[in-house]
Amino acid sequence: MAGFPAPIEALIERLVRLPGIGRRSAARIAFHLARRAPDEVHALAQAIGALPEALTTCAVCGNLAPAGGTARCPVCDDPRRDRAVVCVVEQADNLAAIERTGAFRGVYHVLGGAISPLRGIGPEHLRIDALLARLRGGEIREVILATNPTVEGEATALYVARLTAGSGVRVTRPATGLPVGGELDYVDQATLCRAFEGRRDVPNS
Ligand code: ZN
Repeated sequence: MAGFPAPIEALIERLVRLPGIGRRSAARIAFHLARRAPDEVHALAQAIGALPEALTTCAVCGNLAPAGGTARCPVCDDPRRDRAVVCVVEQADNLAAIERTGAFRGVYHVLGGAISPLRGIGPEHLRIDALLARLRGGEIREVILATNPTVEGEATALYVARLTAGSGVRVTRPATGLPVGGELDYVDQATLCRAFEGRRDVPNS
């Protein structure tokens, strides 16, 4: 935009790539930062810059985990979680949305996306084999397929359900009441709780 100093313009160009940030919000953030004390701006830049090396993928479930240490996420590290119930989600932020409801005491499995032929994403690109390996461990009694209520999410849920055939594991899907075509992140907590409580069995035998 004409009249913006080059450093502000460069920052705006970066900020508009973030989710939910339009040009107007980006400009507001850029000018806000320009007025803050240098220490504060440097601390923000450092927190962002450290992120790639500070995070890894949980060796158990695929959630984000702090790098180093156990390589397990906070959920998998928590001895109070019920390891017999696994909630399958597409991405780590879906997991975070379910955690915010506080209604689920089991553990998770993050697929890393959904099957989407249009975008060239096949089952082999997702952490489906890792899920099947966990099921073979014998500890799991129920798998809740909480992929997004989109066409891709539904197809992925059916695909995974079919693979569990004959395993003896109960497979469920959150109840209807979730907005069709919506994504789990945008569902309010009460709706998500009801959807989990009223989950339906997916036939897999
Ligand atoms: Zn984990």
